[in-house]
Amino acid sequence: MSGDHALLLPNMTQPDAAAALARGTAIIVTGSVEQHGGHLPLGTDHFAALTIGLRVADRLQAPVFPLTAVGVAPYHLPWPGTLTVRPQTMIDLMVDVAGGLSAAGATRLLVVNWHEGNTPTVRLAADEIQRTYPARVVIAETHIITNALYPDEMEFTHAGSMETAAVLAHDEGLVDLDRMLDGDPVEIGTDGHALFRRRDVFPILRDFREVAATGWYGTPGSVSPERARQIMDEVADHVVASFEDIVEALEQRVAIIGEMS
Ligand SMILES: [Zn+2]
Repeated sequence: MSGDHALLLPNMTQPDAAAALARGTAIIVTGSVEQHGGHLPLGTDHFAALTIGLRVADRLQAPVFPLTAVGVAPYHLPWPGTLTVRPQTMIDLMVDVAGGLSAAGATRLLVVNWHEGNTPTVRLAADEIQRTYPARVVIAETHIITNALYPDEMEFTHAGSMETAAVLAHDEGLVDLDRMLDGDPVEIGTDGHALFRRRDVFPILRDFREVAATGWYGTPGSVSPERARQIMDEVADHVVASFEDIVEALEQRVAIIGEMS
């Protein structure tokens, strides 16, 4: 569980937060509250981003703020319990929160996202933040990292092994494989998702039943809690190494621009 984490911004005292933010880096965690079959909680994508975000916070010694559990997931609304916000609502919230972090001295904002449906919105928010405040936004798409690091073990499905691992790493009491409902065959879901994941010509997802009629597909039972924690640690290592590489590369390029002007 993560509720007592020392770098979770709401847990920090004002003087401690001020000192930590003045070091220049803050982490924003995004979320989603959407159906994940009978075996995973509605907040799966929120918990996934949070468990990785907290690991990243430990490594960077930077404060971490969960923006809100809810994200942009209108295509899961056919299943009651799913919540969604309009993209502009999330943009407004992220920009306003970034304003406070920036005012405290954070010039590097690392967004840790898991939910694919948040991606266009997070990019628009980042653009507005960078036009409004003296801050650089870097986005970590942690579902993509998890799948890329372990393509066979961490399948890119919905409510399958990858998302089960993320929830197990956060709180194994929130996974109940005995309550698994029938899912779609993995080939059906994979082909459905592939339509919307094309990068050249693609439709926009309107109803997740177009991907998987049951709402989920994948093989959730394949990962132990120990392995899940190990994987999420390695995902956090990858986020931190990439973030540090990017910050250093950008600093060099900005220095070159300065010499040119
Ligand atoms: Zn999910």
